[in-house]
Amino acid sequence: MRQQFLFSPTLRDVPQGADIPSHQLMLRAGLIRQTASGIYSYLPLGKRVLNHVEKIIREEMNNSGAQEILMPAVQPSELWEESGRLDDYGPELMRLNDRNDRQFVLGPTHEEVITSLVRDELNSYKKLPVNLYQIQTKYRDERRPRFGVLRSREFIMKDAYSFNPDTESLAQSYDAMYEAYSNIFRRCGLDFRAVKADAGAIGGKGGTHEFMVLSDVGEDTIAYSDASDYAANLEIADLPDTFAESAVPEEEAKSVHTPDARSMDDVSAQLFLPLDQLIKSVLFIVDDEPVLFICRGDHELNDVKIGNALDAGTTRLAEEEEIRNLFDTEPGFIGPAGIPENVKVMADYAVKSISSGVCGANKIDTHLLHVHPERDMNIDQYGDFRFVKEGDPAPDGEGTIQFAKGIEVGHVFKLGTKYSEALGAYYLDENGSSRPLLMGCYGIGVSRTLAAIIEQHHDEDGLIWPRSVAPFDLHLLVLNSKQEDQLNLGETLYENLRQHGYDVLFDDRKERAGVKFKDGDLIGLPVRITCGKKADEGIVEVKERRTGEMEEVHVENLAAYLS
Ligand code: ATP
Ligand code: MG
Ligand code: MG
Ligand code: MG
Repeated sequence: MRQQFLFSPTLRDVPQGADIPSHQLMLRAGLIRQTASGIYSYLPLGKRVLNHVEKIIREEMNNSGAQEILMPAVQPSELWEESGRLDDYGPELMRLNDRNDRQFVLGPTHEEVITSLVRDELNSYKKLPVNLYQIQTKYRDERRPRFGVLRSREFIMKDAYSFNPDTESLAQSYDAMYEAYSNIFRRCGLDFRAVKADAGAIGGKGGTHEFMVLSDVGEDTIAYSDASDYAANLEIADLPDTFAESAVPEEEAKSVHTPDARSMDDVSAQLFLPLDQLIKSVLFIVDDEPVLFICRGDHELNDVKIGNALDAGTTRLAEEEEIRNLFDTEPGFIGPAGIPENVKVMADYAVKSISSGVCGANKIDTHLLHVHPERDMNIDQYGDFRFVKEGDPAPDGEGTIQFAKGIEVGHVFKLGTKYSEALGAYYLDENGSSRPLLMGCYGIGVSRTLAAIIEQHHDEDGLIWPRSVAPFDLHLLVLNSKQEDQLNLGETLYENLRQHGYDVLFDDRKERAGVKFKDGDLIGLPVRITCGKKADEGIVEVKERRTGEMEEVHVENLAAYLS
């Protein structure tokens, strides 16, 4: 590709509203442009990287025995009624009507469609197991789209669904996906960890792991051992501070937490929490005022001034800005890691009381509106509660606990029979009895993976692509296009290198050398070849973007040198 024709508008300055390196660099290097909030167009460089990531995904998925299909993005609402998720999914689900007023949704995920697709076909154990996948556009009307393609409203996902006759077969499919995912993310050049995770909105019983790319911009916190394979999303990390004895039915716990809210629509997502999430809440006392932090499924924190909420029947939800001001800190999981010094931490007393049912709203109210930080800060009196710090022993007894921020790039679930039962997907087993299909589902955020790669591979000058996903293999550059010998050598090499199978970006622009070098560093191709002052001797300069190492190479030796 000749760079003079490449549609890759670069920006010198950091664009407004782009807060993290990947978002800034994707805009600056001309990989993406925003079309609407949380909705992006991919320009040629961005699309090339996407293609490479998708190629890796396809190779590993096909290798695992999965088969590629393509399902529609537009899905009839009836399917979502059948599964019960039309209401459950909440405002993230994008809905639309056709000209005859039939209701549809834009798929945020495809359990319903795929289950309906196979329910009349996979009707015998002889046809199982099957694993079907697609790479396709998904829609989620995220409450707060941000960080560019890291959390967007339209994004590309690879989603796979396995159909299995029994738990053993499901475990095999799950393990195969776990392995394929490990290969995929390794081949993408990512430093990642597979962590035990929470089943979240997708439901179902059984195992689930998230693939987390370690990065400070990650929205999840993971706890891991420095000496073993132990790793878990902090939401579910089986650390000593999570107390176990919460015996109250979920419904009751919910009712305590849903007083007459100002707007039920507004807060239901925040307050209709399953018990396991409720007990992960943490109570803080700020200026003598109790603030209950609830960690939601999407890991964002919301505070409920529980005094107000439970007393006056109103609930106030803080936006991030407010949390920042309140605590002078970024919102995140208020867990063992990073509790700001200025925040007085009370034990999980209130949460414990609510979820174990020993006291209802009124009692909490009494207790908490009159909290004494000194008295109530003595967390020992609340039993087994304590915060786990970095360096404490890991739950598996091997090594110590460490915390890290992670970007969820992949997620594997054992779904069980939730969707097959709801949508009537049954098969006949060896004995002729009808059984619901066991399902697993396995997702990768393809576009998010792009951003995650950049988070781990850049410097102050720009992108540094791992070879496996780089938009081009080589950046060929003519130092001074007015010098005929340099230009001629460039043209010759452009032909030769492509004949050797390299994808070459040829900067034949009539720009100053400084501009070309700056753009080159910004775009970040793995290797740069410059035809410069020694062109007449047949010598070029070869520079590795990652290390900055530079070497003069004779063109006769170039192919051998590059391989
Ligand atoms: P998150 O916790 O970040 O909201 P999720 O758990 O809701 O993600 P899943 O339902 O597990 O997401 O979807 C599978 C994968 O799709 C995720 O692991 C993630 O990589 C990707 N993904 C989910 N939501 C988005 C989004 N809004 N933008 C980009 N990628 C996303
Ligand atoms: Mg998640
Ligand atoms: Mg989500
Ligand atoms: Mg997930």
